[in-house]
Amino acid sequence: SQAQVLHQEKMAAFGLLAAGIAHEVGNPLTAVSTIVQMLERRDLDDHTRERLGLVTAQLTRIQGTLRELVAFSRPASDSRGRCSLREVVDEALGIAKYYKGVKGREVRSEVPADLPPMVGVRDQLVQVFFNLVLNAIDATGKGGRVVIAAEHDSGKLIATVTDDGHGIDAAQREKLFRPYFTTKKHGTGLGLFVTRKLVDAHGGTVACESRPGEGTTFRLEFPALTQNPGTAVPGLAEVVV
Ligand code: ADP
Repeated sequence: SQAQVLHQEKMAAFGLLAAGIAHEVGNPLTAVSTIVQMLERRDLDDHTRERLGLVTAQLTRIQGTLRELVAFSRPASDSRGRCSLREVVDEALGIAKYYKGVKGREVRSEVPADLPPMVGVRDQLVQVFFNLVLNAIDATGKGGRVVIAAEHDSGKLIATVTDDGHGIDAAQREKLFRPYFTTKKHGTGLGLFVTRKLVDAHGGTVACESRPGEGTTFRLEFPALTQNPGTAVPGLAEVVV
């Protein structure tokens, strides 16, 4: 459902943040706990001992929260397999049609049926196209158009998400993939950040071309899974297809 996917989108961003927090907060927290334990071994007056006990209890609580945060944010399904770009795009569009901003816009897939497959985590690839399509819809007014196309070229799958929306100026284009960069009133600025992380994890690239006032194209490239043994997917040799 739409709610589930919006939840997944948040969770993907959340997972990356959680990993960062676990590292940035967890390490100093361990250091503080160690110091407190050392202090507790000293000969202390009751008042100080009691206070240190409270500090320890609160530290334990924070460490527990941190552990839960990391466990909770682990992706639901991360199994790699053979993926059809056409099916991935269809699934992303199937969900995007419930987005309320889609009203009055035409959103269409032109992804051909005869493309070679690729290797990836299907849910993550759906997330990538969902993020790009949602942004494209946000950028267009009523009567706007969003087209997803794809082709196969010398071992690469090239997909484009094109809109005829307001576009992005050069200064903003540099910041697009940074976490928290947003120009939207209720934006998180995490959509493209997560998108790029997921594309990277699939050995792919994502780039943006835009003309302010005319529209924007996001171009993705992924290694195709072809019969040719010379085009093995880097890091995915273990996958049985
Ligand atoms: P959010 O959607 O929460 O703002 P994103 O990381 O997905 O976060 O996007 C960051 C910013 O990039 C958006 O706020 C918007 O300014 C710009 N952007 C992304 N896609 C498009 C697009 N297709 N057309 C115009 N601007 C876009």
